[in-house]
Amino acid sequence: MAQSPIVTSSETVPAIIERALCGAVLSAADGYALIRASGPELTAVMRAAGEMNAAARPHRRVTYSRKVFLPLTNLCRDRCGYCTFVKGPKQRGAHTMTPDEVVSVARRGAELGCKEALISLGDHPEWRHPEMGATLERLGYGSTPEYVAAMSKLVLEETGLLPHTNCGLLSRDEMAAIAPWNASMGIMLESASLRLHEKGGPHEGTSSKRPEQRIATLETAGELGVAMTSGILIGIGETPEERIDALLALRDVHDRHGNIQEIIIQNFRAKPATRMHGAAEPSAVDMLRTLAAARLLMGPAMNIQAPPNLGGDGFGTYLLSGINDWGGVSPLTRDFINPEAAWPELAHLRAVTADAGFELRERTALYPEYVTSGAWQTSTAVAARVAALTGADGYVREELEQW
Ligand code: SF4
Repeated sequence: MAQSPIVTSSETVPAIIERALCGAVLSAADGYALIRASGPELTAVMRAAGEMNAAARPHRRVTYSRKVFLPLTNLCRDRCGYCTFVKGPKQRGAHTMTPDEVVSVARRGAELGCKEALISLGDHPEWRHPEMGATLERLGYGSTPEYVAAMSKLVLEETGLLPHTNCGLLSRDEMAAIAPWNASMGIMLESASLRLHEKGGPHEGTSSKRPEQRIATLETAGELGVAMTSGILIGIGETPEERIDALLALRDVHDRHGNIQEIIIQNFRAKPATRMHGAAEPSAVDMLRTLAAARLLMGPAMNIQAPPNLGGDGFGTYLLSGINDWGGVSPLTRDFINPEAAWPELAHLRAVTADAGFELRERTALYPEYVTSGAWQTSTAVAARVAALTGADGYVREELEQW
């Protein structure tokens, strides 16, 4: 993915904001100006993002997905500089879940009212570790994506949870095998910056984090009719302009296929025993300005999410920057990607959301408007389960919500 030269906007921030609120599609130069705003202009950018969200969602609903987290395997072909999830096959904590474990955890999640099974794992670990190849062979599968497809089917059929899989890059055939058992799937773009792949960068030596390949996976999903979640990881060494470039790359995919149902803005957290353990984390203000710029750049219809468990006590302020979703929250399993950061209790999340003037509502792994459009059901099995869980408005039926 070519790095675009930085173009500065000839317009003032207030003029860009006005155009955005009138429905104009913002350019890269506009985005660069918004994300560099400070002082009163930053306040204005945030206020505009909040206004844009409120105008598009007069019901003032903010959503979350009640989920259970299934870390199918923490082996991976890559080693990103910030990742604490990944383990080597001989390292303490290395684990690949068996089908029995998968069903057991998913079933407990279903008993606790979860609707989504987030299946998260490393990217094609068997390409790096012969041990994973042997595990797959023992289980009767030829590849990790094949195992993912089988476990998605098992979870859906045995527990009624709707799988949502994040397993990195996928070829067309791999995705076509997994998608019929998933309500939606995900792959974070993280960043469009190739600088991060240089020596000492967080993606040095990685083979699955090339932005053009991740965009290709999103495009493949679009061609196959799979709704995707994606997003950016901020604070890993990218410039503010590179954040805008990444958001625009995602907007381009969505313009072509309409399949990006959600943009996640995730803040980097420094974790012990990673290459980036000593790196500075993005500030709260940096997070707020990125959320606001994302809202204005992606437009009113896009679902913008920020994880509440990575925002500290002040995560409720994100709502002031125009987000409308908190992502998956589990009453059972921890966030295996950020194990140090507990998800808030749902009652607390609901109270914080109400405090900012919004109503917390549960959605499935397929966003309400993707449910009601009827165009994004990946199979009759998924469609039947989505229909059983959702009302005419596409949200989880109120009688099925648990607080
Ligand atoms: S972030 Fe993902 S791709 Fe990178 S090492 Fe961790 S599991 Fe692998």
